[in-house]
Amino acid sequence: MLLSSRVKGLSDSITMKLNERALGLTDEGKVIYNLSGGQLPIKPLPEFVEKIHHQLNFLKSYQYSPVAGFSNLRKKLTRHMVEVRHLPSDIFENDFDCIISNGSKHSIYNALGALIDPGDEVILLAPYWVSYPEMIKFWGGTSNVVRSNVFDAFVPAIEDMRKAMSPRTKAIILNSPNNPAGVHYSEAWMREFAIFLKENPDLIVISDEVYSDITYFDPKPSYFYQFDHTLLERTIIVHAISKTLASTGLRLGYSIAPSAIISAMGKIQGQTTSGPNSLIQRALMDFDLKFLDTFLEPVKFHVRQNAATLREKFRKANLGHCWYQSTSAFYFMIDFSRTPMFSRFESDKDHSYTVADELLQNEGITVVPGTDFGLPNSARIALVIEEVPFQEAISKIVRYLNHV
Ligand code: PLP
Repeated sequence: MLLSSRVKGLSDSITMKLNERALGLTDEGKVIYNLSGGQLPIKPLPEFVEKIHHQLNFLKSYQYSPVAGFSNLRKKLTRHMVEVRHLPSDIFENDFDCIISNGSKHSIYNALGALIDPGDEVILLAPYWVSYPEMIKFWGGTSNVVRSNVFDAFVPAIEDMRKAMSPRTKAIILNSPNNPAGVHYSEAWMREFAIFLKENPDLIVISDEVYSDITYFDPKPSYFYQFDHTLLERTIIVHAISKTLASTGLRLGYSIAPSAIISAMGKIQGQTTSGPNSLIQRALMDFDLKFLDTFLEPVKFHVRQNAATLREKFRKANLGHCWYQSTSAFYFMIDFSRTPMFSRFESDKDHSYTVADELLQNEGITVVPGTDFGLPNSARIALVIEEVPFQEAISKIVRYLNHV
């Protein structure tokens, strides 16, 4: 009764709840295969950790940073983006800015706050990251969902976006590489997306690129604005160190966008959280980003191997129709709606929660139900656990899917 209707409308994070249940079962002595994780199970680069140690010695590391973050770091991150996306060196020199926030979730939240009026629509491409609809709702907007399916490797059709446009559509969130599908959209797709944006000159894009460094299948991700630089005038590029530097707990994300949008995001940030973590910003300022090139190599190799295990096990178990080539991030979506075990269920309803529950209770495996990603009758698994337990977990999943 005491709570605001705004907060009552929000959902809890399902991943957190599942983790708690899995921890409870582990305490009871059960072997649990945790495939629900959203982070890399490794420590960041020693060179980065060293920089954090070093910065512990300075008073400034413990004091407020400017609201938008230290300007040197904002410039450094902007330069880095220009380099890795092969943009003209002066592209962000005028009328663009960068703001550092407490993780990219915070960046996206602020960006939506800067853009959305109650009643505005935001196009989401399903499967989408669970937090987008909740954040849109929080700011009074509504999600307009464009769906994709396993047969298209979860790549949405641009034509469906054209159909989804309405007079209230304000923005679209693009997330390539995608969580939860574990794929990135091709260059041809991005070129077509750029055309679609040209047809819709008022549409703003939030380009969530937090997984852009984790790709294990060529060609590497490309982005629509690389093919038409004028599109940057209505794009908010979002990135973070969470996945790139295996530092989810250090909470540092950033956005590059036209100055007017960054300034509005800064107003929200200034009146809510203030500037981001000074210590981590200073360590990052000191850190040579070229180390990133090699840091993720072993991770990518490992994820690629687990993805190959998945393909083999699905193929041998006649589940080839549930398989697609994942290419990036570290997730895979299992669409179980065409597997033998699904005959137990009413086909016109979503049973993702029941299946996640059965997998945990019967097989000791945690997965994330597809419901919250906007993909009914599916489950997200992470491809990051060690090879042998991963093989065991997939054998159990395959047996479960084929059991009537
Ligand atoms: N965007 C996507 C697609 C994610 O999967 C996540 C985290 O899992 C985030 C943004 C937020 O990451 P962070 O707030 O840790 O930077």
